[in-house]
Amino acid sequence: MNKVRVALVGNPNVGKSTVFNALTGLKQHTGNWTGKTVDSAVGTCKFLDNEIEIIDLPGTYSLKSSSEEEFVATNFIEQKEYDVAVIVCDSVSLEKSLNLVLQTLEITNRVVVCLNLIDEASKKGIVINSKKLESILNVPVVLTDARKKLGLDRLLEKIVNFQSREVYQVQYEEKIEKLLSNNNRYLSIRNLEMKNSIFKDKIVNTIVNKSNEIVKKVVNFTKDDYDKKDRFLDKIFTSKITGIPIMLFLLFIILWLTISVSNYPSQLLFSFFNFLEIKIFNFLEFLCIPRFINEMLVLGVYKTLTWVISVMLPPMAIFFPLFTILEDYGFLPRIAFNMDHAFSKCNACGKQCLTMLMGFGCNAVGVTGARIIDSKREKIIAILTNSFVPCNGRFPTIIAMISMFFITTTNKIFSSIISALLLTFIILLGILLTLIVSKILSKTILKGYPSSFILELPPYRKPKFLSVITRSIFDRTLFVLGRAVVVAIPAGFILYLIANISINEFSILHFLADKLNGVGLFLGLDGVILLAFLLGFPANEIVIPVMLMGYLATGSLTDYENLMSLKTILLNNGWTLLTAINFILLTLFHYPCSTTFLTIKKETGSIKWSLVALLIPTIIGVIFCLFVKLLWQLFL
Ligand code: GDP
Repeated sequence: MNKVRVALVGNPNVGKSTVFNALTGLKQHTGNWTGKTVDSAVGTCKFLDNEIEIIDLPGTYSLKSSSEEEFVATNFIEQKEYDVAVIVCDSVSLEKSLNLVLQTLEITNRVVVCLNLIDEASKKGIVINSKKLESILNVPVVLTDARKKLGLDRLLEKIVNFQSREVYQVQYEEKIEKLLSNNNRYLSIRNLEMKNSIFKDKIVNTIVNKSNEIVKKVVNFTKDDYDKKDRFLDKIFTSKITGIPIMLFLLFIILWLTISVSNYPSQLLFSFFNFLEIKIFNFLEFLCIPRFINEMLVLGVYKTLTWVISVMLPPMAIFFPLFTILEDYGFLPRIAFNMDHAFSKCNACGKQCLTMLMGFGCNAVGVTGARIIDSKREKIIAILTNSFVPCNGRFPTIIAMISMFFITTTNKIFSSIISALLLTFIILLGILLTLIVSKILSKTILKGYPSSFILELPPYRKPKFLSVITRSIFDRTLFVLGRAVVVAIPAGFILYLIANISINEFSILHFLADKLNGVGLFLGLDGVILLAFLLGFPANEIVIPVMLMGYLATGSLTDYENLMSLKTILLNNGWTLLTAINFILLTLFHYPCSTTFLTIKKETGSIKWSLVALLIPTIIGVIFCLFVKLLWQLFL
């Protein structure tokens, strides 16, 4: 069998992951915005008698740029360890993609051009003469609609039958060299770095001009108003007056749907797992498993695990698909655009907003996503502040607290609206703190000015609902849940042990909680809560289960069936509204979980920054708790 190695290159958001997935059958995350592929993925496929290995490189605008992911792509192209480089292009805005094609042709002639999104282009009345393009560039050009898997066989055919030939080249190096040596103004510049940067600018300009020239020859716009709808929507979504209110309204709607719908399945899961618990317990007893082990398995491991599933699964299964629909539609970059001004006022990068949005799913993902930021300083600011947005491990915990302590009305619709409003407020508080802390950091330990960057506003695309559902369930919901479960099982064991092994009549759990009680009460909380946060370092999801074990003398989580019985337990243990408020604040502002911590360590390569990332949110959480307690004592 013939082996062919293919490098998949392309601007961000041109459907590269979709082409990759369609060819290899693998599942790379796809979404309608820039910068989500930060690592390269490898997959294989068979075609005729060939085994084709495909390397999906991170999306890149240019091979002359400095960001981390663009560097990965450039390096790979320059190393030439591939047989063919397939450049995926956006047929709707060919000139942008052609820039990359022309740059790649300077390095290698082993190129196949894949004009993707051809369906979108034809909807907009954009007609591309691919034969003409092929003859100008002298490389194979294939039209594809990767979503519908159209044209992919032809692409594979061109790859396996590829033959090198002399290709179109801008040959700018020679021209610009001449220009530089002839021009006195440039000659007077002694500083090599500056000279290089002018050189680079010139190269980029030449390329942009060339691609515009080519586009004029091969593209025909049959409708003048081909992007009228997009421009209209952008006017509303990104205008100074309507942009932010629409954004807040959508956030509220998503949270409201999440809260009002997730209660029912949560309740059902609770009842189902409780029903099963007795059966499992009896069955293990029937098998003559020693009582202690039986209890440890059922009351420790099973209880913790099913708690995590009942509380986390429903909100995630609703929130993620809704969020993915917005992402697919192309709304997230508009949010970043609206927030850009606020971030640059704080001397941070507008792209930080995108990493913040990624943090809603999982902070570790948000931290990795900070690779899309070029400047090291701004990248570290984004990493240090990412945990201010509640991830999915903390979302349900906050929702549960709101439902228990802030909703007094029995009217379901009304109460879910209030919950959603409160949750929106809490998230806005997190965002506000992100901005404030970014500003403080950029004025102190991470001094500097905001860098300029190009934020691409991709075209609006109709979300593919089926793929949104499957993707958000499998890639996100089950992924996050899986991780939580992996932590919950050993945590259940350990918790059960420390709740049941005694030192001087008290279990270790009670002993530790007792030691922390003084500090806890000082913060308007108590020792059990603090211990729960400390033991919740592996995963935020287990904070409430640990807390319950601490409160329940039985050393297990036996006595609750739903949130209201949980509330009774908390009230019986001295909780007040103040405890609930401070608990929520501490949930929002405390050190990131262990996975995120390790990711921060990996991304920054520095223990110092990792520790700063632990300290900043924790200190803020403590200050907030003390402040609220003080207000409480003054006014109530
Ligand atoms: P990447 O950033 O280049 O990897 O782009 P993705 O593969 O994530 O695709 C971005 C968006 O474009 C997703 O919503 C895809 O479903 C959509 N998409 C990809 N290829 C096509 C296509 O040929 N036609 C249409 N209509 N949409 C596409």
